[in-house]
Amino acid sequence: MKAVQVSSPGGDFEIIQKEIPEPGNNEVLIKVEACGICHGDAITKEGHFPGIKYPVTPGHEVAGIVYKTGSLVTNWIAGQRVGVGWHGGHCNQCSACRKGDFGACEKSLTTGIHLDGGYAEYMIARPDAMVNIPDELASVDAAPLLCAGRTTFGALKSSGARGGDLVAIHGLGGLGHLAVQYAVKLGFKTLVLSRGKVKEELAYKLGAHGYIDTDAGDAAKQLMKMGGARVILCTAPNGKAISELIPGLGRNGQAIIVTGARDPMQIPPMLLLGGERSVRGFVTGNMEDAIRFSVLTKIIPMVEVFPLEQVAMAYEKMMSAKVHFRSVLKIA
Ligand SMILES: [Zn+2]
Ligand SMILES: [Zn+2]
Repeated sequence: MKAVQVSSPGGDFEIIQKEIPEPGNNEVLIKVEACGICHGDAITKEGHFPGIKYPVTPGHEVAGIVYKTGSLVTNWIAGQRVGVGWHGGHCNQCSACRKGDFGACEKSLTTGIHLDGGYAEYMIARPDAMVNIPDELASVDAAPLLCAGRTTFGALKSSGARGGDLVAIHGLGGLGHLAVQYAVKLGFKTLVLSRGKVKEELAYKLGAHGYIDTDAGDAAKQLMKMGGARVILCTAPNGKAISELIPGLGRNGQAIIVTGARDPMQIPPMLLLGGERSVRGFVTGNMEDAIRFSVLTKIIPMVEVFPLEQVAMAYEKMMSAKVHFRSVLKIA
């Protein structure tokens, strides 16, 4: 089979030929149809996590067909269309697992980091880390829902915001363009915050009720004029820009970080104290919930499709935010 691998931190993507792996007793072999390229793949490509064993195949937005199952697998059968996301498996034994919080497993395995991911024609997955993909969703559309979709949908759903509440989506890229659609369909008064005017037309096309150009003035002040945001969902990887938005949170408002910004944020503690505002991160979210809601409300990601051979270009376009709006490798 053909696969993409990275052999060292910062190394190039290499396209290699290798044997199709055999699933173990409690594993599933998936014939990959599509794999989204996520900002999180930079962890593997650049070696941002300690202890990654190279070479490794990245990719944690995987949609494909069950090809073969191990002898102990009872819940999946060959031919089913399935997805695998960031969470690649858990131990079922640690204290987090015993509380049912599998996402926080002390020995959790991440697809495309600890386990070979979906930048390949076939991959091995754990049966408990897979999700069913319904017929209504093409594999190239399903793939980005497995990380970008479930994260933004999960963050909004867990925010406590209710119908009519003011929700601002900061950034309109791979995560943001899905978040806006979810926010609108969840019944929130949805604003898009983005630099310049370039994304304004798209924001309204996706259903947003308003648009704030963050270059044109104090976006936080504009939010406060509207009563303050119940939620600011931060999808743009820029700690400084996020900090500047916090004063735009209303009473009990929360900024939810779903992006891996590396520069620090600076927030006056008084600002959080008064009005009981909060800032939190969100990385979990349920793939099945996101898929069900997306199918129900006809939300599909806007994707640019690349063959496996163009992985370097697809990754570069994603990293430089030039892709509209999610790179997806179409593999079969
Ligand atoms: Zn991701
Ligand atoms: Zn565990």
